[in-house]
Amino acid sequence: MVVPVSAVNGGARPAAGRTADDLRRDNLALLMGLVHHSGGLSRAELTRRTGLNRSTVGACLADLAALGLVVEGQPEASPRKGRPSPVFQPSPDTVAVTVNPEVDALTIGLVGLGGRVLERWRIEISAGLTAGDVVTRSAAAIRALLAGRSLAVAGVAIAVPGQVRQRDGQVRDAVHLGWREEPLAARLAEATGLPTRAANAASLGMTGESAFGAGRGVDDLVYFIGGASGIGGGVISGGRVVRGASGYGGELGHFMVRGGGRTCPCGARGCLEIEVTQHELLDAVGLAAHRADRLDEALAATRDAAVLDVVRRDLDLLGIAVRNAVNVFNPRLVVLGGFLAALYRNRPDDAVLAGDAIRSSRESLTIATAELGADQLTIGTAELAFSDLLTDPAGHTPTRTGPTAP
Ligand SMILES: [Zn+2]
Repeated sequence: MVVPVSAVNGGARPAAGRTADDLRRDNLALLMGLVHHSGGLSRAELTRRTGLNRSTVGACLADLAALGLVVEGQPEASPRKGRPSPVFQPSPDTVAVTVNPEVDALTIGLVGLGGRVLERWRIEISAGLTAGDVVTRSAAAIRALLAGRSLAVAGVAIAVPGQVRQRDGQVRDAVHLGWREEPLAARLAEATGLPTRAANAASLGMTGESAFGAGRGVDDLVYFIGGASGIGGGVISGGRVVRGASGYGGELGHFMVRGGGRTCPCGARGCLEIEVTQHELLDAVGLAAHRADRLDEALAATRDAAVLDVVRRDLDLLGIAVRNAVNVFNPRLVVLGGFLAALYRNRPDDAVLAGDAIRSSRESLTIATAELGADQLTIGTAELAFSDLLTDPAGHTPTRTGPTAP
């Protein structure tokens, strides 16, 4: 956790080069982040966790309440006598909109502060989806989603299965969708009038698991997620997302796992995502492409030797990628999401994923499956849409919708 300057000096004096207003904004962001990520805390707990003094916390909470971002909820039942302490919770009316184009569906979500998924609409896609289609269909779905609701919309975020320039949400390459150099975020912002960002989908899934799921409180983790479009991933090292020089780092789906293997859409051969695919597993157990949600139970129920062979081969190949990641990044936790979680949960008794990683690198390692299930991408994408508000709660004005909107 980042400890602000104010936590060291008790909020009394700004550090050199920082104005009192900078300090107040830092404190608002710190408290807003804690309320958002915890779902609600008492003033005493917020004071303890931030190290700020009680009156600073009180003043900041009053500011966040006046901004409509925090509400005073039911007091916690206290085991001790005395006045129960009210709990400060994220406002239920402040929301983010999420958009996730995939090869087989377009998913639109509405997520409240605190990572509460309020709606998730899946629109099945039969033919190839152009970036223009995504803009038109998303804008219509967002209008329908927000119609008649009184909400404060912090923003929209798009999770793209491809490489996205962080600065302006330009999709550089999304090979599975056949897109190249599409100004997707700018076009959707224009169509909806809402501030819009875009980022790599796997990286956003990792953000969701890191903020609200299996990766909570873990500063060193490696994340793999498998879906219809392939395998993505991400790395958090020392509490920071590893992005690289231009922001495209963390493409763990393109770890080479088989020399002279199949040709990947990226142009290389033997990448993890072309060697280990969701559709092959679905085919093996006899499920249709859109029933990936039933893969876990189908694998658990099967005794078919041919299916078990596919599972074992896929785990061997995934194990090579996990081994490489463990040797390079020395994570405390490896999180597996999507069909990779189903694969890992149904591993044979003798399958060990990182068994041949260097001993010292794996001795403090845990391998876990993602906890947020189908919500991880939606929740993580909402984190991106909320990011300006969380960074500077007083400087970001959400867009009002509904009957009371102008
Ligand atoms: Zn590749």
